[in-house]
Amino acid sequence: MSENWDVVIVGAGIVGAACAWQCALRGMRTAVVEANFIGGGATAAGMGHIVVMDDSPAQLALTHYSQTLWQGLSKSLPNDVEYEACGTLWVAADEEEMQEVHRKREVYTSAGVATEVLAGPTLADAEPQLRNPLAGALLVPSDAVLYPPCAAAYLMSQARRLGAQLYRRKVLSARAGKVRLDDGTQLTATRILIASGADACELIPGLPIKKRKGHLVITDRYPGFVRHQLVELGYLKSAHSSTADSVAFNVQPRKTGQLLIGSSRQFGAEDSVADPQILAAMTERAAWYLPKIGKLSAIRVWTGFRAATPDKLPLIGPWPEDDSLFLATGHEGLGITTSLGTARILADHLEGVTTAIPAAPYLPARFARSAVHV
Ligand SMILES: Cc1cc2nc3c(=O)[nH]c(=O)nc-3n(C[C@H](O)[C@H](O)[C@H](O)COP(=O)(O)OP(=O)(O)OC[C@H]3O[C@@H](n4cnc5c(N)ncnc54)[C@H](O)[C@@H]3O)c2cc1C
Repeated sequence: MSENWDVVIVGAGIVGAACAWQCALRGMRTAVVEANFIGGGATAAGMGHIVVMDDSPAQLALTHYSQTLWQGLSKSLPNDVEYEACGTLWVAADEEEMQEVHRKREVYTSAGVATEVLAGPTLADAEPQLRNPLAGALLVPSDAVLYPPCAAAYLMSQARRLGAQLYRRKVLSARAGKVRLDDGTQLTATRILIASGADACELIPGLPIKKRKGHLVITDRYPGFVRHQLVELGYLKSAHSSTADSVAFNVQPRKTGQLLIGSSRQFGAEDSVADPQILAAMTERAAWYLPKIGKLSAIRVWTGFRAATPDKLPLIGPWPEDDSLFLATGHEGLGITTSLGTARILADHLEGVTTAIPAAPYLPARFARSAVHV
């Protein structure tokens, strides 16, 4: 059996689902192939923080652009997506971290992102459960949170409403315009998009993507315990580290009243079992910032795998080693945030039009063998 499409997308995580919607919106005959559940991979494991980050100018551009797209979409999102513009407080423990607050503010301001510097007493008023005193914080009011698997399901439902077809199968191979499924079906497509997250290397061996394990804990319902997404400024060191295991204080208020407690980063840990030592380190870190958090009940812990690239930027665009192949993967800890921006850039590439934001930093060509060997 053979079927023919303009674009076949491998993976219905939040990135594949967003791309499917964008392709369908632009009139492409779109098929999506998902081996498990819509939004069931890293998307289901993610925290759902829609956050502007400034590791690099390219990361800032993509996160900021994507956040504005989420803001535009927010009123259409169904209730189960639990979108809430709670803002982020980047918490400074001491005066050295306050320097980072001011540096960050300058960068955000120059990018047009509004922020506010809170001194220690103002921070204590804003978040009474935080340890007191702390030096202060940077408030980013435009940051938001949502529930990622329902966001992916919504995006996929929009794509299907416009005619995209979903195949619940595993893709065994994808190259030269042909996608072979595990029931023997072969789909042919002008373009194939690999959006299979951390598993993308199974279809394109040699892609520079490593799995980076993360743990999260969710509590019972304690409405109002915290009001903003709270992140220690040390989180940036944790996210930057390319080798060591790391944990950082990162707590999110859910619309349900639950608290999501993160977060950890590990390379080389490929099984999904929760590690008690990592969990203990995470909860101790959280208790340093929120002394009463230890009195709350945790109801579940889980792990997931971020798809990490060497330069901490995703791979979005054509794969130079096969004219039919495009990539949208490698989003590490920011794929929920950047899914909508990724989808616009990717669809611009597919249509051959100028991309919504400058796309060069995300081009997969930077890692292709042919590009490296030129
Ligand atoms: C602990 C943790 C916390 C995070 N917190 C945040 C956060 O707060 N904010 C944020 O922006 N990001 C966060 N992230 C990152 C975010 O979750 C990911 O970047 C994002 O979910 C990646 O989406 P994706 O669609 O690329 O991949 P996935 O969600 O992994 O989807 C890939 C899909 O492809 C399917 N697939 C794979 N291989 C095949 C195949 N051969 N055939 C068919 N289907 C296939 C899989 O079944 C899966 O459904 C976090 C991640 C983790 C692990």
